[in-house]
Amino acid sequence: MSKVLLITGASRGIGAETARLAAARGYSLCLNYQHSEAAANELLESLTDGGHRAILFQANVAEESEVAAMYRAIDSEFGRLDGLVNNAGILEQQSDLVEMTPDRWRRVLDINVVGSFLCAREAVRRMSTRSGGDGGAIVNLSSRAADIGGAHEYVDYAASKGAIDAMTIGLAKEVGDQGIRVNAVKPGLIYTDIHAAAGEAGRVDRLKSAVPMQRGGYPAEVAEAILWLLSEASAYTTGSFIDVSGGR
Ligand code: NAP
Repeated sequence: MSKVLLITGASRGIGAETARLAAARGYSLCLNYQHSEAAANELLESLTDGGHRAILFQANVAEESEVAAMYRAIDSEFGRLDGLVNNAGILEQQSDLVEMTPDRWRRVLDINVVGSFLCAREAVRRMSTRSGGDGGAIVNLSSRAADIGGAHEYVDYAASKGAIDAMTIGLAKEVGDQGIRVNAVKPGLIYTDIHAAAGEAGRVDRLKSAVPMQRGGYPAEVAEAILWLLSEASAYTTGSFIDVSGGR
């Protein structure tokens, strides 16, 4: 029986690449998206045409009722869950903190933090050996921004990823004896559309000379770390972080 994996924000970027790699490694998939319906459908078709088992579910991860409906769909389609990749996340326009509004902070924290919490909670309820599950793995998408701080660009985003780091450590400790491992990856500058959405499509190329490896990273390179943390190859690894940042 193949393992079942939920990837949030799977329509584009790191999430979509993680879906391709996970399918190739034999996972059955629930692919979540919010707005990019055409891209999500295209991904679904390419996976199912290749013989992989996958479903698509549109949900805003920050909305409790939509997350609950998504998990009900997983329950009825697959009847089990083995892993969650908490990947959905947003960046707002580059700005100094002094220009930011409370609404902006709430939007960023709502999607990046509350969304990850809601998805993790439902995953634990299903995977915990205490509630009859078989255990599993959660991989959260943090960011090197949590350590660097996002000055003059996205202190709000960096703070949201700092919260993800704390949740990763705390939840790993809570569920370590319930068969569930919780880890995070911390990408650096990765070529995806998230930078264009934040107002600077060429951001990775502008900053790449500050990366020790002198280049930006690719979604497939992040996906490899995610898949390792999901796999049995990392069976004794929990509450830990992998930087995928070229040394930055
Ligand atoms: P991206 O290309 O902008 O893709 C973001 C994905 O998240 C999309 O599939 C989007 O879905 C989904 N999403 C956004 N808000 C959502 C919501 N409320 N509910 C459900 N889905 C939602 O971003 P990315 O660069 O691949 O980033 C993926 C993760 O890696 C994020 O957590 C990000 O913070 C983190 N990260 C990225 C970088 C980087 O340099 N790219 C660096 C560090 C960390 P729709 O398009 O369908 O709305």
